[in-house]
Amino acid sequence: MRKSHGPAFRAAQFDLAKCPACRGKAVITGVFHELACVQCNASGWVTAETGEALPLEVLVTQLSIRLQAAEQRLELLGRPAIAVGPEAQYNENNRRGPGATNYTGD
Ligand SMILES: [Zn+2]
Repeated sequence: MRKSHGPAFRAAQFDLAKCPACRGKAVITGVFHELACVQCNASGWVTAETGEALPLEVLVTQLSIRLQAAEQRLELLGRPAIAVGPEAQYNENNRRGPGATNYTGD
């Protein structure tokens, strides 16, 4: 790939659409377990224009751009983008009500 030709993909933002194969979930439910979706490079996203998976090095940047935008939007709403720590777990448990299993992630 020559640097003097083609668009500067690093700065460009693609329009992404949810992958039709896995419906944006990045995994497909197989017979026994979930499989990484091949059609979208297990990202859940494809190019809106062609419906094709983005190359990984492009995809990472596109997802970062979108994540940053999403975090900014949540900050504007006065909430942390991703809830972490004991307080978040407490709220999570509250929402599920008594008797719910507490999934600790280990
Ligand atoms: Zn997919």
